Amino acid sequence: MNDALSGQHELSMTVLMTPDMANFSGKVHGGAILKKLDEAAYACASRYSGSYVVTLSVDQVLFKQPIHVGELVTFLASINHVGSSSMEVGIKVIAESIQEKVIRHTNSCYLTMVAVDKEGRPARVPPLKLETSLQKLRSDKAALRKKLRKEAEEEARRTHENHYGVQPR
Ligand code: GDP
Repeated sequence: MNDALSGQHELSMTVLMTPDMANFSGKVHGGAILKKLDEAAYACASRYSGSYVVTLSVDQVLFKQPIHVGELVTFLASINHVGSSSMEVGIKVIAESIQEKVIRHTNSCYLTMVAVDKEGRPARVPPLKLETSLQKLRSDKAALRKKLRKEAEEEARRTHENHYGVQPR
């Protein structure tokens, strides 16, 4: 593997929004953006870990600002936190109207990716070096999100059990 790229925790992916991504009103489908978010997270986590990775979860994605066909969209992805085999990838989405040169931060999203080996078992990922105060802050926030995700999962499990009398699969 190329040493310059393995272990890199940041990645930028720029995509032109083409008409095939549009809904009936000419705005880009939320699903098309979700697909790109997943691709950026896959590429960022796979390059960082040097493993194949799968998506474990996608945190709430808010499409507050529409993205238009013809805009150039950049997905700024970064590994915020690592567990033994999981990684939280944060992505900041920036849309640029090419001719007007107006840049907007449309949304941000956090995905959890898990490294797997050739047999599909979780694989260990390298520890994340936290070199700047921003990295430390993002790592702390990611750890808090991880805790909240676990609590929400536990709560959903309890509700399911109370309601159906069996544990969810
Ligand atoms: P934050 O999580 O509070 O910093 O919220 P932001 O909306 O600023 O960024 C969301 C996520 O996108 C961050 O947690 C980072 O993982 C990632 N990110 C933000 N800015 C950049 C950047 O300039 N480059 C890269 N590669 N990733 C970024």
